[in-house]
Amino acid sequence: MTDTVATFDESEIIAIREKYRSERDKRLRDDGNDQYIEVTGEYSSYVEDPYIDQPIVREPRTDQVDVVVVGGGFGGLLTAGNLRESGIDDLMVIEKGGDFGGTWYWNRYPGAMCDIESYTYLPLLEELGSMPSEKYVKAKEILAHSAAIGRHYDLYERTLFQTEVTEVRWNEERQRWIVSTDRGDAVEARFVAMANGPLHRPKLPGIAGINDYRGHTFHTSRWDYEYTGGDPEGGLDRIADKRIAVIGTGATAIQCVPHLGAGAKELFVFQRTPSCVDERNNVPTDEEWAASLEPGWQMQRMENFNNLVSGIPEPVDLVNDGWTDIIGKTVRLVREGRDNPNLDVASLVERADLEKMNEIRSRVDTLVGDPAIAESLKPWYRQFCKRPCFHDEYLDTYNRPTVHLVDTDGRGVKRITETGIVIADPNGGPDDELEFEVDCIVFATGFEVGTDHSRRAGYEVFGRDGRSITEHWADGTRTLHGLMSHGFPNAFIISPSQGGFTANYPHMLLEVSAHIAHIAGHALNNDLATVEPTVEAEEAWIAKIIEKARQNMAFSESCTPGYYNNEGQPGKRSLQNSSYGSGSKSFFRILERWRDEGEFAGLDMR
Ligand code: NDP
Repeated sequence: MTDTVATFDESEIIAIREKYRSERDKRLRDDGNDQYIEVTGEYSSYVEDPYIDQPIVREPRTDQVDVVVVGGGFGGLLTAGNLRESGIDDLMVIEKGGDFGGTWYWNRYPGAMCDIESYTYLPLLEELGSMPSEKYVKAKEILAHSAAIGRHYDLYERTLFQTEVTEVRWNEERQRWIVSTDRGDAVEARFVAMANGPLHRPKLPGIAGINDYRGHTFHTSRWDYEYTGGDPEGGLDRIADKRIAVIGTGATAIQCVPHLGAGAKELFVFQRTPSCVDERNNVPTDEEWAASLEPGWQMQRMENFNNLVSGIPEPVDLVNDGWTDIIGKTVRLVREGRDNPNLDVASLVERADLEKMNEIRSRVDTLVGDPAIAESLKPWYRQFCKRPCFHDEYLDTYNRPTVHLVDTDGRGVKRITETGIVIADPNGGPDDELEFEVDCIVFATGFEVGTDHSRRAGYEVFGRDGRSITEHWADGTRTLHGLMSHGFPNAFIISPSQGGFTANYPHMLLEVSAHIAHIAGHALNNDLATVEPTVEAEEAWIAKIIEKARQNMAFSESCTPGYYNNEGQPGKRSLQNSSYGSGSKSFFRILERWRDEGEFAGLDMR
């Protein structure tokens, strides 16, 4: 590798910082997360399940079980699986969808696929004796893998599908949780583990006139194949006479835009902030390689990937893709630059980032024919301000004469009318507008992240003395290890807030589900009635989270708004809601050591 860091002189660095700052400032807005509409009431149709063939009809249930697991995505499946491995069979899973899969149940939009290598992303490959067909598999295969985990742990017979939890309430007298649902169930449980998913609640932009629109609309996480034709593999054959709009250009849009572009009469993509799109290079699984793997390979690969994306050097890069390349390069430059007395680590990282982002921007020039469109598609922020994207057809789609990028220059959509979408004319005066008439609007506008937990979960949790989790967390998340809260005995909430965050989310789920099974298993096997963190343990963990988050504050503030930085408002509450700031590896080690010590430190157990 060439010593490229030396090629940037200080004036280039100052100029790029200024460019990033001005692009961020264009997008900063006072309303932050409040710019989005809560998808309830008149907007409820956006979250109806379009995938159910046979609605379940059943009587309400009043079972008494050891554990209720809320959610049947990877988080719920792994928690239930780990509990079964610990000998806890008396459990019930409650899942809103018609099958297991969580995010992969809902996200079946055309082109949906995992953007983390599937050999590390799909949990329990060795346990299930399965091997993904490609390096990055499509949604259908991930959904089938979720079902296979469900079968492996005999969870189908223990699950209430098409059932939405409406309330979780602690009954002090009975020392039990009462889990209520929209089907009139009132299930009693000694423990409750909530795996609601970090990107669970679709969000809609609060664009004026959104309800006036008379054409067809849907959110990407509830794809309407009746309308578009085709399936998650593509082939959208019912929109050849339709003008379609997509609002949003995040990781989801990157994957579905090529299919919409191929199928629609005309496609208009409304962009507020361009994504950073690197190459994908998907390949079928090499059977010889798969046959050569030794037992234990998957966890080794997960750890290798997690270390590399956390900036921890590894002797080999087993995954060798865009994710590990970015960070691997940064780590190498930092190591090489250690002898350079003129540059500190932060400067070297900044230079490595600039080198990578220049590559990303050049890639746009190479792939997009029209220089003005190419210019609009270039991201001007540091790589990890937003989730990096990888795709080999997204940028090329803009070479189709029927596909139009509508660059709102950071302002987003201004209004929606009965017939289409209005933006402020980026080349006109303050009142000049452009209107685009369309037959259908697809909202690729993502999911709620920084809002209250109960709003995202869709139900409230009431602990001791009827105190709600919303009240307890009013000034920010309060937990020990991102999992348990004082006043909410025998309850676990799985989330990245105050827990571990890694690009490979299922890795985190494997670690915390094992931790949950360890605590619940100990309590149930020793007939303990209640387990909850002490006030002191909770306070100490919060202090640690805030202290570490503060170290990353300057970076967060410098970023263009998005859900990574609380929509441009990384303030106190957001500091407290952060993941453990020294990286997921350190976090996993904290949990492991805590378990090994065997003292259940910080937990009050009775
Ligand atoms: P995002 O939140 O990443 O993107 C939402 C998009 O909507 C952004 O481009 C945003 O613009 C845009 N938007 C919001 N409001 C407006 C407005 N008023 N006018 C115009 N545009 C607007 O959601 P995604 O669904 O794309 O992705 C969410 C996450 O899901 C990803 O970050 C990733 O973690 C995960 N994902 C994972 C995949 C996988 O393979 N594992 C695949 C797809 C998604 P702006 O950027 O300016 O806010």
